[in-house]
Amino acid sequence: MKIPKCRSGMPVVESTNHESHGMGHVPLETHLVYVNFYTYEDAKQVRMILNEYTAFDDILQKANELLPTCRWRIFSGTDKHVSSEFKNSRQVWDAIKQTSYYEIRYLEVRMIKIGGSARCDGCYREIFGSRYKCTECSDFDLCGVCELGPIHSFHKLIKI
Ligand SMILES: [Zn+2]
Ligand SMILES: [Zn+2]
Repeated sequence: MKIPKCRSGMPVVESTNHESHGMGHVPLETHLVYVNFYTYEDAKQVRMILNEYTAFDDILQKANELLPTCRWRIFSGTDKHVSSEFKNSRQVWDAIKQTSYYEIRYLEVRMIKIGGSARCDGCYREIFGSRYKCTECSDFDLCGVCELGPIHSFHKLIKI
């Protein structure tokens, strides 16, 4: 496995400021984790060495490496269901810690596209404000008004 490069395309700054992130002398807890990446139609398993400080960035970077055709957000879940969005390494680490099976750790990551059409699939108007994305259809969004109605109540929508 190669060493992760600078994250998320940000400019590389000479790194004398690690201490300011509070991880200077704290020993890293790391785990070998079998990470299952799911999209609506596909699944891939990747073995990753993760630590509690950079797990979120490492997984997000891997998701965007696996399917670089678009940008992704990462959620807890599988191809069948999606729950909460991962937003930091603490949440990812907590999820990993819950899944110990004979010392093997797993993480289920559901990838959901960023962007795509920002047009409502209910009223066909451009969406301003809250947008509700279907967790099962590959590209289905509703505006806040249509989300209240029965248009797509057979699938779970998440606010993005
Ligand atoms: Zn609408
Ligand atoms: Zn749907």
